[in-house]
Amino acid sequence: MSDTISPHWHIEFFAPDEAHMRGISKIYASEKTPFQQVEVIQSNHYGKCLILDGHMQSAQVDEFIYHENLVHPAMVACPNPKKVVIIGGGEGATLYEVLRHNTVEKAWMIDIDKRVVELCDEYMPEWHRGAFKDKRTILMFKDGRKFLEKSKEKFDVIIIDIPEPVEAGPAYLLYTEEFYRMVAEKLSDNGIVSLQSGCSAEKELLCLAAVHNTLKKVFPLVYSWPANVPSFDIPWSFTIASKSVDPKALKRDQVDKILKERKIGHLKYYDGETHEGLFFIPKYIRDGFVKIKDIIRDNKPLTYRFIGEEKSSR
Ligand code: SAM
Repeated sequence: MSDTISPHWHIEFFAPDEAHMRGISKIYASEKTPFQQVEVIQSNHYGKCLILDGHMQSAQVDEFIYHENLVHPAMVACPNPKKVVIIGGGEGATLYEVLRHNTVEKAWMIDIDKRVVELCDEYMPEWHRGAFKDKRTILMFKDGRKFLEKSKEKFDVIIIDIPEPVEAGPAYLLYTEEFYRMVAEKLSDNGIVSLQSGCSAEKELLCLAAVHNTLKKVFPLVYSWPANVPSFDIPWSFTIASKSVDPKALKRDQVDKILKERKIGHLKYYDGETHEGLFFIPKYIRDGFVKIKDIIRDNKPLTYRFIGEEKSSR
């Protein structure tokens, strides 16, 4: 850590009176696309970072925590994932992690914003590591919901890697019961959907609880767990939902065997022991799922400007 005060800062507001400041040594890109404000910066502490609409999306030093949580529990629990679609995915790290499973024959990545992907491709190769050029990759630039609506495919795993449902952002209609019903329809019988589900702090549980409960209306098996991604500065969460296969039934030896058989290589966060631990979550989160009854619908979407300021869908 440098002992001089940084002359330039990125300030991420979590509330009007709460913010995280990051010292910046370089701005690689800063532009407004038709969908969002994009920044690729060099933070002194976290390495390169992608910021969308002022919010941290991932940082070089701890992106592995986010992407391994998002991808591997669902991919491992799915018996033979051949067709995988990523909705969103900007940086390409989700695609990279998916393609590490040698069962995958086709991986679609559907991001609404071509410019974000171009900037990530150019400035953040440490995330995608060539995944955009893999012969199994099908990269398309369109709204993920519209893509699924039109698609005739059945997918084994659907990974929803989009930003939080911020007010006027491009993602809030991909958090609704109607959207999750479409996801279920497009999944194969053994299919699993995986997503990031927002902040998991006790005072700011509405998004996670509403996403969890909305998925429960559609899928018989839904599991959410918290994870600490230090560059986010607030505890985060992930959720998987399945039609029939139970990810919780997989024991650590089975997970390690699958990772080995699929020749995944070295992971830094996830293995069999981590997998078993995902299903033991703090009591305040379990209580929150019971207390918070919100169901997110197209005509009652959950949106917010600041985390903790969610507009209730009740
Ligand atoms: N890691 C991130 C986080 O912390 O939330 C999310 C990953 S990624 C950068 C999010 C991507 O989702 C962006 O590239 C954005 O363009 C894309 N996106 C947002 N809304 C979308 C939509 N409706 N359909 C497809 N992609 C969308």
